[in-house]
Order: sequence, then C-alpha cells, then structure tokens
Amino acid sequence: MQIKLYNTLTKQKENFVPLNGKEVKIYSCGPTVYSFAHIGNFRTYIFVDNLRRVLEYNGYTLKHVMNITDVGHLESDADEGEDKMEKAARKEKKDPYEIAKFYSEAFFKDMDKLHIERPEIIAKATDHIKDMLEFAKEIVKNGYGYETSKGIYFDISKLDKYPILSNRNVDDQIAGARVDVDPEKRNPYDFAIWIKAPENHIMKWDSPWGKSYPGWHLECSAMSRKYLGEEFDIHTGGVDHIPTHHENEIAQSKGAFGKIPAKIWMHVEFLQVDGGKMSKSLGNVYTLEELSKKGIEPLAYKLFCYTAHYRTKLNFTFEGAMASERALNRLREAYITHKNAKSTEVVKEDESSENNLQNKIDEYKNKFIQAINDDLNIPLAMGTVWEVARENKKSKKYAELLEEFDKVLGLDLSNSEEYIKEQQTIVIPDEIKQLIEKRKEARINKDWELSDKIRDELKLKGYNVKDTKEGMTIEKL
Ligand code: AMP
Ligand code: ZN
Repeated sequence: MQIKLYNTLTKQKENFVPLNGKEVKIYSCGPTVYSFAHIGNFRTYIFVDNLRRVLEYNGYTLKHVMNITDVGHLESDADEGEDKMEKAARKEKKDPYEIAKFYSEAFFKDMDKLHIERPEIIAKATDHIKDMLEFAKEIVKNGYGYETSKGIYFDISKLDKYPILSNRNVDDQIAGARVDVDPEKRNPYDFAIWIKAPENHIMKWDSPWGKSYPGWHLECSAMSRKYLGEEFDIHTGGVDHIPTHHENEIAQSKGAFGKIPAKIWMHVEFLQVDGGKMSKSLGNVYTLEELSKKGIEPLAYKLFCYTAHYRTKLNFTFEGAMASERALNRLREAYITHKNAKSTEVVKEDESSENNLQNKIDEYKNKFIQAINDDLNIPLAMGTVWEVARENKKSKKYAELLEEFDKVLGLDLSNSEEYIKEQQTIVIPDEIKQLIEKRKEARINKDWELSDKIRDELKLKGYNVKDTKEGMTIEKL
C-alpha cells in the first residue's frame, strides 16, 4: 500500500517512492551531547522510530544514519555564542570528550527505555573531522566560501535561491535585524562552515585556516554524504531545524556538489509544557528519569506522544502523562486477556464465526495500515488499536494482531505480563511517599480537609488511598 509523507520542501504530502528499490536511506539529526536529552528531544526521536517502523512494516529495508554532535554546535543556531560542549566542560570541570561520552551513554540508555530502534549507523562528529574538512574545501574551491578573521563563511548570495525550505524572508530580516551583523560577513545570513578556535578552545584541529573546528551544519552535510551518498531519501529533525540548520545543510550540499541532498524533509512539531515553551529558566525541562520518579514510565511517555500527530504541537502536562500511564496498563491488560483466551473458544466456533473473526482482523489491519501510511497518522492508528483491545470476543488472534501493530508502535506489548508483575511489586516514587507521610500527619492532627486534599492529589497522580481499620492502603490506579 502506498505510503504518503509530508515534505517540508514541497509543503505537501507526497507518494513515497525510494530512490533505490526497497532500501530507504534516512539521515536524522541527532543529539548535541552536552546535557541530558529532555522529553521534547525524545518526541522527535519517537517520531523517527515510528518512521523507521512504518517503513519496515511496509517491507522496506533501511540504511539510517544518526549523528552525535560533540563539537561545533554554538549556543545559538545562527553561529553566535560559545560551543555548547566547551561551555558544559568548563561548567562541570571536565574534558569535553568526557562530557560527550557521559551524555551519549545516557542518551542511548533512554532510547532503549523507549524501545526506539537504533539507526544502522551512529556517526560522531569528532570521528569525521577529515570528511568535514574535505567538504569545506570543496565549498571554498567552488567559490561559495570565504575567509574572515573568525572562520570560513558560506556566501548565500552565490546560490540560485536561499532560503528554500523555510518561508523566512531574508531581505525583511536584514532590514529589521535585531542582532548586530558581523561587518566581515558579505551577507547577514552567511554562516560559518569552519570556525577559527580561540586560544583556550580545547577541541580544535589543523586546517588550511589554522587551528579550528567545524561548524555544526557542516557536520550533517559531510556525514550524510559519506554514508548515504549525494542524494538520499529522507532527512529528519525538529521544526527548529527548518529555518537555519537544514536550510544551511542544503546550501552546503548545493555549494559542494550542486544538489539538494534529501528528497523528503520531515520535521516534528515541538512538545510544549503547560501550553508554553520548555525552558531551563522556567524549570520545566523534564528528563525521562524525572518522569519515572513521578510514576510515569518511559513507554507511557511514548504512548502520550501518540495522542497527537507529529506535525501538531503537543502539550505536556503531568495529568495527561499520567492518563497515558493508566492507558498503557489498560492496553497491557487487554492484550493479556486476549492472549489468555482459551483457544478452544476459537476451535469450537463454527465456520462462519471463524470467517467473521478473520474478516474483522483483515478490516482492522486495513484501517491500521491506512492510518500509518497516511503521513504516520499514529493517533488515528491508535483508535484501531483500542478497538481491537476492547473487542468483547476475546481471542488469541486479537493478541497476535496487537503484537503485529506493536511492530510499529514499539510499546513492548509482548512483555505485558512482566510489566504488570513488576508494577505489583512497584516501588512507590519519593514524591508519592512524601504525600503519604504528609497525609498521615494531617490525620494525626485531625486536619480532615488537608487529608482529603492530599487524597485527591494522590488520585490525580495515579494512586488511590483507602483508610481501613488496619491503617492506610495504597494502590496504583
Ligand atoms: P539538540 O540536542 O538540541 O540538537 O536537539 C535534538 C533534537 O530535538 C532536534 O531534532 C531538535 O529539533 C529536537 N527538539 C528540541 N526541542 C524540542 C521540543 N521541545 N520538542 C520536540 N523536539 C525538540
Ligand atoms: Zn543536523
């Protein structure tokens, strides 16, 4: 069945036809490993996982590259400020390579907790300095690069068109530019492909322009070409990559070999928190570990992401995530019930009801694949998943169908029994323990109002307290 994908480049859904038969080549912009990845970042990687799995479900094989940015990503995407890695290294009083190692490992641990499939190739920027340098030299040789006292810049005026991915109007922005434009730049939107390193900079390499290091945008251009060739099928990232990072990747590839590197550019809308931006200063940047401490499993966060299409903003609230936690457990229970249905039920059935069951299964499969192949409409596909889960007639065949759907969802449903067992011996999160203690104290003080308030708060957080003659009992909802 035909897959349709939305392409930011053409601003429409397109029939997906790979460049090379059954093998799909994908490049995904990976993490900058200067701190723990947050749940917003993981919305993007969950989308990438869905993309992989949908393609695989449709019988394609994948060659998927994801980079690890461990050098060259400055504080602002527009080449302002310090290198994020160096800044973190100074703050943590560590070597930038140690920082990169630590946060890369943490990142992949979280990816595993989310059951996100690993790309075939993981490419670390610092392992590819030579490839990047070659790329930069080609850009300069073709007349698209020029040197300033700060580095080598890409001259966007040499291109037939810039920008081509985003709608930003370069001329308007020049007129109303809020930031002082570097007077050495030929055009305000020229960007650094290679950066001359200040004296105290740790990550730097020899180049024709002295001790220096590559710009962030160049890294993805060089590594995608190395592993996927000059033209490949799909390039992914978050929407923040559209106006600068991906725009500049396209510019670089056009400068080096005259082509837009990917056919389809896919971008994930942002995860917001309580209706607004996630930011360190607001204290609302959460990691998976912080969610776990509040009783929300990584896979429940994955299910939470399935409540919105990847091209719409998703608003994170703890209540919403807790509802997904409960929903995940309901889905697991439903799967187990279908799985444990007596096979005799099916055997005993007469031929027509057997056919009926098969027809229903075919119908469900059809609805599911239609949804996922329509630009990864996972929320719609989840509707079908729930219909199967809630089928009155229990059957092992429905459990098998849920297992098949789970090839796309990646919720580890086949291990449902283990998760449920684990939860029965679940450790109560610290936050919940503290609330229970506060409630006990309130009851000793006969402050019934506070006690009831805490009981309601616990309920919202997914725990039910009951007061019995023997004392207080607590159960997970
Ligand atoms: P970074 O590590 O900052 O380079 O970001 C890694 C990925 O996460 C990029 O593809 C970003 O576009 C994406 N990203 C950053 N913030 C969010 C967010 N709030 N929601 C969804 N994706 C995000
Ligand atoms: Zn990138």
